[in-house]
Parts: sequence; structure tokens; C-alpha cells
Amino acid sequence: MDVETSQSDRSSTSVAAFHVGNEPADRSDAPIELAPDVWWVGRRLPDDRFQCHAYYLRNGNNGVLIDPGSPLTIETTLAKVARIDDLSAIRYLVCHHCDPDIAAALPMLSERLSRPDIQVVTEWRAMALLRHYGHRFDYYLVEEQNWRLPLEGDRALEFQLTPYLHFPGAMVSYDTASRILFSSDLFGGFVPNAADLICRDLDVLIASAKPFHQHYMPSTELLSAGLTRVQHRWPQIAMIAPQHGHVVPGPLVEKAFNRLKVLECGIFALADADIDLRRLLRIAEARSRLFQVLLSQAAPTQMLVTIKLVLQRIRGVRDCVLSIELPDQGWTSWSGTPPEPRLEGPPLNWEQVVLSTLPPARLSLLMDDKIPVDEDVLRMLKDITPSLQAWIDGVVEEHQDHQRMLELKHLATTDPLTALSNRRALESDQPSGAYALLSFDIDHFKRINDSFGHAAGDQVLKKVAAVMTKAVREGDAVYRLGGEEFLVVLPKIDPAMALGIGERIRHQVKALDLQGLAPDGGVTISAGLFVSDPDQPLPFDAALAMADGALYLSKQQGRDRLTVA
Ligand code: GH3
Ligand code: MG
Ligand code: MG
Repeated sequence: MDVETSQSDRSSTSVAAFHVGNEPADRSDAPIELAPDVWWVGRRLPDDRFQCHAYYLRNGNNGVLIDPGSPLTIETTLAKVARIDDLSAIRYLVCHHCDPDIAAALPMLSERLSRPDIQVVTEWRAMALLRHYGHRFDYYLVEEQNWRLPLEGDRALEFQLTPYLHFPGAMVSYDTASRILFSSDLFGGFVPNAADLICRDLDVLIASAKPFHQHYMPSTELLSAGLTRVQHRWPQIAMIAPQHGHVVPGPLVEKAFNRLKVLECGIFALADADIDLRRLLRIAEARSRLFQVLLSQAAPTQMLVTIKLVLQRIRGVRDCVLSIELPDQGWTSWSGTPPEPRLEGPPLNWEQVVLSTLPPARLSLLMDDKIPVDEDVLRMLKDITPSLQAWIDGVVEEHQDHQRMLELKHLATTDPLTALSNRRALESDQPSGAYALLSFDIDHFKRINDSFGHAAGDQVLKKVAAVMTKAVREGDAVYRLGGEEFLVVLPKIDPAMALGIGERIRHQVKALDLQGLAPDGGVTISAGLFVSDPDQPLPFDAALAMADGALYLSKQQGRDRLTVA
């Protein structure tokens, strides 16, 4: 955006007077008026991306020098002030915090400025350190003055703490007349070109503010909280004048706040002594992405794919597998590379992060050859463990719910005596296509109960059920539909084979040795076979009735036989 055309208020006219980016270095001895009675009076240090800005507020006989500077800059700054005011007009020296680039000039100023009533305007924690520069000035402690320094007329300089950004007692100030925020280190930046004072492009501002804040600010949360406080206190900020980096003109102020609030900060806490900022940043980004992902409560496969994608941005990580020891099921693993089959247990020879103890879970990382797992990555993964644990607890709970549901379903669809499926099970797995139904009924079963008792009858039922289960093919299903009636469902079968299986069952039941359980030491069964015709399919109930009809014929014709419907 163009400062010269997009601003119409009075303060920006003077901003426009400074030709952004085009000013030759030799013109840097001129103060730059940012608003009426507000000047930039810094010194541009050649070949230094860490430019420090000082500002001067003309205020009659009580001028205010903001963040005065150091021995490297103070002579230029005083020369610039001298072009605006007599140096004897300087009354206040605002020090937003106590860093040497702000305050190391205090001893020199003690000598250069003879006025006896000069005060250093600061907060008590900064004062405790500012003393150590060795200067003669008195203090104006803002917290004892209602966070305010009255200026001429009804103008005032107001103060706001921005704790831990990056000093416990760091503060910023705001000129009620020009509505300029003197933001100290907030909005600070490393500038590639010292001649660029005014920001014209927000992307450039953020690009230069980003590394500065990543280095100096302790956390995104603290930075965001500090910025929000400042915005609440002064909702009408017309310009941001930081101590480093670019001055932010009005139209960009709000967007600059919003974008600064989400910068990743505090990343040096991820490593002990690492200075590879980019690597730490990738870990920090992975960390916050993983936190977001874990909040999403996604299903395991989807979760692992996402975790893998996030971790792959860190050098060396090729794949990952999460293994959880599920109750009643043992180790179960999900890979970040579906449709790979779900693994049984944690992969061998992968780097493992043990995440929890109850139930145990492991995140295993497949690393590129020769790249060992990064200690900082492990530390980061340990950081996310509580969140991952909560998600794993959810997975385990869901698994248990699922198991319970399967158990209930099994109970509801299984005959407890023979362990065969019951009639209810048949409702949910009816066959179609070319299938056959074998309907069986034990002959004269009542006699067994009558002569040997109900328990003997039960034994016989179990033995008959076992014969059927053994006689059928894999994929066939045997049901106990009631009392001593059974049904065998034979999917994908031709009539001859179905007949063969039916007869096999009949003979094997007849061959059972049931001495002491049944009259004559054995039983016979009658059967009815129905084979479906895929070209003329019947509804299942009709097919079942056909098989039952054939069974009925077997009974009628003397039992111990198989009738084809
Ligand atoms: P048919 O040859 O005509 O089939 O004669 P049947 O005696 O086998 O037939 P019926 O239907 O008259 O008698 C079946 C008997 O099976 C009656 C019932 O008491 C008995 N029964 C049903 N369920 C069980 C069970 O779970 N255990 C035992 N021991 N007997 C059962
Ligand atoms: Mg019977
Ligand atoms: Mg019967």
C-alpha cells in the first residue's frame, strides 16, 4: 500500500513527506516528523538489521525523549533533537525497559544535559536495573503516577505494562494527541534495509517481525495476551512506532496486531542450546499442529495419517505407527501409511516413544537411514503425550464399547447349549444367489427326554450340533432354530454337493454312539434340502418354507431320510 495516497489525516501528511525507502543514507541526520510534535530521531547504523529507534515529543519546556539509545546512537539522536528544540527542553527520558540499546546512553546524557530536574520515566522493575548504568537522573515511576505522564494542554503520555515481553516490567506508551503507540519491542523487527522506516506492506512487516519475536518473545500466549491488553486500552491507535523494525501506519495497525498475535514464539524452550531456528520452528509448528489434530478426536487411521504428515516435516521421520495394548485384544497398531494392514504390535527396530503406562501405548518412528531420532523431537512428543493420552483413552473406551456391543450381539444371536447361531442371527445374515438350505429335525427326540432325562437330551443336541459343524465347509453356517431343529446354510453351492453334505450329516449322526443317552444307543435325523435357483430367486422365508416342506415329507415317509424340495 502507498502511505502517500491512502492516508488523509494530518499526521500522515508528515509521514508522506519522508520518502519511504528512497531516502539516501546521507540524509539520515534529519529528524522525521511522524505527527505534529512527534519525531523519529534515531540513528541508522550501517549494515545492522537491528536498527534502534528513538522518538522525541516536543512539549514546550518539558520535551520527552523516548528510548534514548546507546553510545552508538546518542550523538546523532541529540543532534536531531537539537534541530527541533533546544537540548535544555529535554525533561523526560522514557525507558520502556532497561536494555542497553535503550538506556546505555544514560551516563552520557548525565553529562550532556545539565538541567537538574530531568527524570527517567520507567517502571520499578526496570528502575532496579537502570540504576546500574550509573547516571544522575531522578525517576518518574509510572505505576506511582497512575500510568500517565501529563503533557501540555490535555495531552498525556499513557503507559501500559506488557509483562514478559520480553522483560517482566516491559511497557509501552501512547500519545493521546497523535494516538501513536510507542510499542517498544512489540512489533520489533529485523529490517533488511535501514532506510525503510515506514512499513508499506504487511507481509514485509510480519516477515521481519517474525524472527525478532521468535527470538525475543517467550510464548505466543503471552504475546497475544499483551497485544490484546494494548488494544483494549487504546482502541484508536493511529500509528505504531516500535523501537526496532518498521513504523506501522494507521491502515495496517489492526491487521498487524492480528497477525502478530499468532506468531510462534518461545521456541528456544524446545532445545537446550540449539540455535538452528528453522529446525526449532518446524518442531514448534509440528507441536501446535499435533495439539490441534489431537483435539479433533479423529479415528485412529485418519489420526495416524495426519500425525505422519506433520512429523514428516521434521527431518528424518519417514513413517510412524501408534501401538496400543487394547484390553482383551492385545497389541494393536495403526500405521501412518494405509492401506497397509493394521499391525499386530509395535514394529521392531523402529525408534519408540513410550507414551503411557495404562494401557501402554507406543509411538514408533521410522527414521531415514543414518538419521537418529532428534532429542528435541522426542521432547516435543513427550510434551504432547498428555493430549495424545486423552485421545488414546478415547480409542480404548470406544474399543471397549465396541467389544461390549459385540458381546451383547453374540449373546443375543447364539444358542448357549450348542454354541450355534440362533434364529435371530439368521435374520441378519440371509444368503442370496446360488445357495442351499438343509433343514434337519431329530427323529423321536421326545423319547430321549422321556427315557433318559432332559440332561441326556441336551447331550445329544450338543453331539448332533458338533457333527453338523464339522461336516460343513468353511463359510457355511449352522443354526439351531429351536428345540431339535437345525438349519445349515450353504452359500455358493450346486445341488449335488449340497445333497452330499446333507447325506453326510445324516449318516454321521446315525453313526453317533449314544449308549446311555438314547434308546437303542443312537438317533436318526430327517432332512429337507432346498437349492435356490439364482435365475428365479425366492424370498428367503419362502426358501426356508421349501426346505421345511421337504423335511416334513421325510418325516411323513418314515424319517431317517433326506428329501429334496
Ligand atoms: P419327530 O420325530 O416327529 O420330530 O418327534 P420328536 O419327538 O422329535 O418331536 P417333538 O416336537 O414331538 O418333540 C421335541 C421335543 O424336544 C420336545 C421338547 O421337550 C424337546 N426339547 C426341546 N428343546 C429341548 C432342549 O433344549 N433340551 C432337551 N433335552 N429337550 C428339548
Ligand atoms: Mg423331532
Ligand atoms: Mg420337532
